[in-house]
Amino acid sequence: MDRGEGLMSEKTLCIIKPDAVKNNFVDQINKMIESKGLSILKSKKTNISSEIAKQFYAEHSEKPFFNELVDFITSGPAVVQILEGDSCITSYRSLMGATNPEEAEEGTIRKKFAESISKNAVHGSDSPESADREIEIMSALF
Ligand code: UDP
Ligand code: MG
Repeated sequence: MDRGEGLMSEKTLCIIKPDAVKNNFVDQINKMIESKGLSILKSKKTNISSEIAKQFYAEHSEKPFFNELVDFITSGPAVVQILEGDSCITSYRSLMGATNPEEAEEGTIRKKFAESISKNAVHGSDSPESADREIEIMSALF
């Protein structure tokens, strides 16, 4: 994939987490994503397995919150999506807001919909390398 200068279309991995699915926030979150000019290329509601969750969150395996994180992301249906658009990795990260909703800015998804730092409504890839890796892990869903 071309990673040259300037704006370019790229893909990122979005997960609407079980808290937001349970609270029926999927449509509102997806409206915010599309209003930002990003396309929802693929979308699948699924129960993420514990095996996939551990692989997906491998970078956090030594963190004190790892078990809680895996339990939470597997606790009920999530919506796994591939987003596409110009600079969509950083654009979607800024739309998400800070990991801790108490620190998230007005107008962000987490400010509006996150319950807590652990139940924080959405996931988004943090770099092109993470996006490639995470899309590959979830590719069997689509
Ligand atoms: N998390 C948590 N407690 C913490 C930090 C993170 O439960 O103290 C969870 C939270 O759900 C977060 C995920 O672990 O979204 C991944 O953490 P990361 O630092 O990668 O935050 P993100 O990239 O999601 O903003
Ligand atoms: Mg992260």
